[in-house]
Amino acid sequence: ADSTPRWTRVLLKLSGEAFAGGEPLGIDPTTLATIARQIAQVSRSGIEIAIVVGAGNMFRGQALAERGMDRARADYMGMLGTVINCLALQDVLEREGIVTRVQTAIAMGQVAEPYLPLRAIRHLEKGRVVIFGAGLGAPFFSTDTTAAQRALEVKAQAVLKATKVDGVYDSDPALNPTAVRFDNLTYGEVLARGLKVMDATAISLCMDNDLPIVVFDLLTEGNISRAVRGEKIGTLVGV
Ligand code: UDP
Repeated sequence: ADSTPRWTRVLLKLSGEAFAGGEPLGIDPTTLATIARQIAQVSRSGIEIAIVVGAGNMFRGQALAERGMDRARADYMGMLGTVINCLALQDVLEREGIVTRVQTAIAMGQVAEPYLPLRAIRHLEKGRVVIFGAGLGAPFFSTDTTAAQRALEVKAQAVLKATKVDGVYDSDPALNPTAVRFDNLTYGEVLARGLKVMDATAISLCMDNDLPIVVFDLLTEGNISRAVRGEKIGTLVGV
């Protein structure tokens, strides 16, 4: 395989689900250690990597709102949940010997740096892994949208959207055995067909700025590195 990286600075989006492993809630240390090993491998190979983490393993604003909670307050719970995941990820990465910085969109000085884009870029240039927490710091957004925004602001060349599935399908492969996987999609196709890649706000942001998205299966060891090298894995969303 070609070992020349296709991209040298990437934004990795990890959903909260990735932290839970097979469990419905919480953080599974074994799964997290596996993820950290992959990230460490990519970072050691000289690729600059920033990470946005979700909180689906704890709180999702929409789910709480459906049960009667005020939506904005529920979203803040979700954002705080992402910070817990950030700290868990920081810990396993540092145990792998990787220097990390957590930056949060909601200031909490004892726990993390505030989000400072120029400083984040500086960390990346020094080979540190930067983990972004608390989403955009505003309700009614998702961590997928955060991933697109942070990627653009720190000038990452691609969003690597790590999931449980090995790409984007025309229907749910867990329910439909004849579901077909796409190798390539345009942003327009994703939006028109309502494909579940990232939410429409995130896709629009990527589309308007020609930011490619690779959707791939996280739990196949080495996949983050394959995605960075531009190997044909998962689904590439682009122009
Ligand atoms: N959230 C928010 N604003 C943001 C990012 C996240 O309000 O900019 C909240 C929202 O409630 C969301 C929750 O944080 O449901 C967790 O994020 P997300 O659902 O994107 O996590 P994932 O699905 O990636 O685990």
